[in-house]
Amino acid sequence: MNIFELLIFALLSAVLLVLGQFLSKRWSTAGWLVGIVPVALGWIWVLLGAVSGLITDFKYSVMSRPVCRQGKCRSRDYILVSSSAEEALFRCRCGDLYLSKANLFVRVLPNNSKEPYMARDSSGNWSRSDV
Ligand SMILES: [Zn+2]
Repeated sequence: MNIFELLIFALLSAVLLVLGQFLSKRWSTAGWLVGIVPVALGWIWVLLGAVSGLITDFKYSVMSRPVCRQGKCRSRDYILVSSSAEEALFRCRCGDLYLSKANLFVRVLPNNSKEPYMARDSSGNWSRSDV
């Protein structure tokens, strides 16, 4: 959800709350529920989305990363560009892009093609997967 959708959603919440207040004059508590229940469910959904996004980011931030191809950047020198549940895109200080997916660390070339770089074994050590 981006900031624009969040604004629309906040506006919709306000409209529903006004509607709830209006209906409460007629049906008292039941009228309030018409407005409050969808708003509450909506915000819970937004919060869950935000929390799962944070968990995903956290998971990728604690995962170890191999030294970059230039041999200059270590695990902590990578910046998380974007992440999903399956993979994360990192940029190292040299400017190279890498895709972290399961136990693979793949280099993303400027033309968007992917080049195998490193693979992690079961004990958590990285080794070259392109040789
Ligand atoms: Zn680097």
